[in-house]
Amino acid sequence: MGEPAPLPQPTKVCRTCNRELPATRDYFGDNVGYRKPDGGRYLRGQCRRCCSRLGKERDSRARDVAREVKAAAGPAKWVPRVVGGDGPEGGFTEHPDDGYRFVCVPDSHGYLIDEEAASAALAFVRYYRPVRIFMLGDHVDFAAISRFDKPPSDIDRIGEDVAACVKLLKAVRESAPGARITYLKGNHEARFARFLWKHQEVAALFKAEGMDLPHLLKLGEVNIEWEESGSIMVTPALMVKHGHMVRARAGYTATGELERNGISGISGHTHRLGQIYKRNRTGMMTWVESGCLCKYDPDYMDGQLSDWAQGLSFGTVSLKGRGFTVHTAPIIKGRVKTLAGDIGE
Ligand SMILES: [Zn+2]
Ligand SMILES: [Zn+2]
Repeated sequence: MGEPAPLPQPTKVCRTCNRELPATRDYFGDNVGYRKPDGGRYLRGQCRRCCSRLGKERDSRARDVAREVKAAAGPAKWVPRVVGGDGPEGGFTEHPDDGYRFVCVPDSHGYLIDEEAASAALAFVRYYRPVRIFMLGDHVDFAAISRFDKPPSDIDRIGEDVAACVKLLKAVRESAPGARITYLKGNHEARFARFLWKHQEVAALFKAEGMDLPHLLKLGEVNIEWEESGSIMVTPALMVKHGHMVRARAGYTATGELERNGISGISGHTHRLGQIYKRNRTGMMTWVESGCLCKYDPDYMDGQLSDWAQGLSFGTVSLKGRGFTVHTAPIIKGRVKTLAGDIGE
């Protein structure tokens, strides 16, 4: 009897390089994702050489994206402070009456900003000298990352979109160097988070790089606070928010918000300008829809007439009690129309 013929060694073909190799751990390694019914491991589908080459390629791609993110957004320099509902503390500066003035800057929508309306709003800020400014949200449009169908040209314009927001914030800061400025997150800013949910590898990278939307918008450079919740209690009787509700006509949303919240407030979001008052046994309440600073005819309106109104809202908050005033002012042909006359460049 001779020696028994050696058993043929089982082999396995690498799915990436197609080499036929011995089906052993030395050549393939464990597939950590799945277990055999008996608890053992399967071999990987590709050989060790391919695994490590692909891993290196992935790492270098990740480094490229990291570089792009950094180049686009600048290094993280500033940790945004999330503001609580702490009223006027920190916002008060010397003022001729016993309160402080504030201005609300409504929806400008990034690259859809109407420069003439925005510069009128800035002229109003310089005239009124508020100690608090509320950026009401939707100061980027983020059409490029929205869930709606969009032309490729909108995607190309995402850089312009963010740049327009950064430029506006800088101009607001220059118009009110000493003011406490708070940026309330709107639904268009929220598109960014939703985009990251869908692209978790980019989200992980942003996290690793200490990047987030307030950094992307360079809020640290102009010392603007970020309000993630999109709403702030200015006093126990007055809130400011971006808002989500949209009803058909100017004032209808204001009515809905007042009914829902049960206190006075100011919102943006509808691009309509209106103010309503309501009295009950607790006293007089008001709600303001603050208009917009964006163009009246963005492409997605498709030639329809929007019933929006460019404008802003402003007022005073007493430091003695719950008292406040709120007003609206339309912007017509680059002039803010108020009781004091029309203000503009
Ligand atoms: Zn909005
Ligand atoms: Zn808006």
